[in-house]
Amino acid sequence: MKAAVVSAFSEALEIVERDVPAPAAGQVLVRLETCGLCHTDIHAARGDWPVRPTLPFIPGHEGVGIVEELGAGVTSRRIGERVAIAWLASACGSCRYCVDGRETLCEQQQNSGYSIDGAFAEYALASAAYVVPVPDGINSVDAAPLSCAGVTTYKALKVAQVAPTERIGIFGVGGLGHLAVQYADIMGGSVVAIDISDDKLDLALELGAEHVVNASRTEPVAALEALGGLDVAVVLAASPHVFEEAFASLRRGGRLICVALPGDAAKMDIPIFETVLKGISIIGSIVGTRQDLTEVFALHAAGRTRVVAETRSIDDVNEAIADVLSTGLLRTNWQIGGEIRDGVPLRDLAEPSTPKWTKAVRTDGGLEEHTLGGIVSRAAVVASESAGTLGVVDAWYAGIDRHYRSELMHVKDAGKGRALGAWVRATMKGAEDVGGKGSALVDAMRDGWDAVGLGKYASDEQVHGG
Ligand SMILES: [Zn+2]
Ligand SMILES: [Zn+2]
Repeated sequence: MKAAVVSAFSEALEIVERDVPAPAAGQVLVRLETCGLCHTDIHAARGDWPVRPTLPFIPGHEGVGIVEELGAGVTSRRIGERVAIAWLASACGSCRYCVDGRETLCEQQQNSGYSIDGAFAEYALASAAYVVPVPDGINSVDAAPLSCAGVTTYKALKVAQVAPTERIGIFGVGGLGHLAVQYADIMGGSVVAIDISDDKLDLALELGAEHVVNASRTEPVAALEALGGLDVAVVLAASPHVFEEAFASLRRGGRLICVALPGDAAKMDIPIFETVLKGISIIGSIVGTRQDLTEVFALHAAGRTRVVAETRSIDDVNEAIADVLSTGLLRTNWQIGGEIRDGVPLRDLAEPSTPKWTKAVRTDGGLEEHTLGGIVSRAAVVASESAGTLGVVDAWYAGIDRHYRSELMHVKDAGKGRALGAWVRATMKGAEDVGGKGSALVDAMRDGWDAVGLGKYASDEQVHGG
């Protein structure tokens, strides 16, 4: 079988041939039709988190396919049944969390594509008890991202205990956020979407948001206060700063629902006084249970949600990862087999051979100080004044001896010195090449600045700003 394998944390995934595994007792063999690409897969492949997967391994925890073989003793599933392989590969079934309906907190749990091989392959083994049946009326390409992005945001809104009169802020409209907007709407809240991309905010409006806030142009806390504040803030953007903004946007009795996982042991700075005085709850929410996923599938089968995703070949896994690391792509599914048609072609990310400079200007003061996950950085931001040209953002990080150079490419919405949603290519000196692509926002219009650069990189942290 074909599989996409992580052999080293610093290397691209390899497409290899492997033997189709045989199911052990209690397992099923699933012939995969598709698998979603989640940001967690990228963290897994890079070994970003404190507990790393054991190499080599196959990522993938949004797998959807057909049960083809039953291991000994399996009676709960049947051959030919369509199932989803989600992040919760198995749990102990008998600890207090498993017993009281919080199986995602089980300390004995296994995780697909992390502690055990996942679904970036033509076949995968899975626990018969923990795969979730996919009902008719859902196509597999939709079912895949619902198995993680869907269930994670659905659960986040469930734990928020939304009342119909409440206002819910969704911070970050990506693969998770576009579903979160819909669940918040279904649960009866009035939805505000906050992002820095107009395209994504337009999508949020289409999917049920009543208001949108473009945080690149407006100070989001003030904009949300002007609406009356939020009762619930769901944070899906992996930046500690966004968590703090979301907290500050809450009104009395508000709930901050933490979902995104910024790297580098990130911390948020929350004022205790306001938390107490305003009676605010801060709640962490991690994926969802099998029952939550069953509910997510039921909503989708009933036509209540819409999935925005693109389909790629599994052979293009590395390009798709690079694209997800940019902010432009909502969700990717692998085309593994079956009836799924060829996907949308990759965006044109070709590098310009010779960057053309016209009137490049440096920010006033040259080096500016910024903080990246607690690390103070010094960045010089240089950007072009005129439309359609390129710029460079340089950053030196104190203490870790790294130098990032981000070259702005494909300036999309340039005019009057303003470039929005430009692509960047990031390289890092003093360590391995970042090798990723991110998106950059350049706004030269702000008072007192020649240029402002904001970059998003491999780990989704904001590394430049000012
Ligand atoms: Zn996931
Ligand atoms: Zn347990």
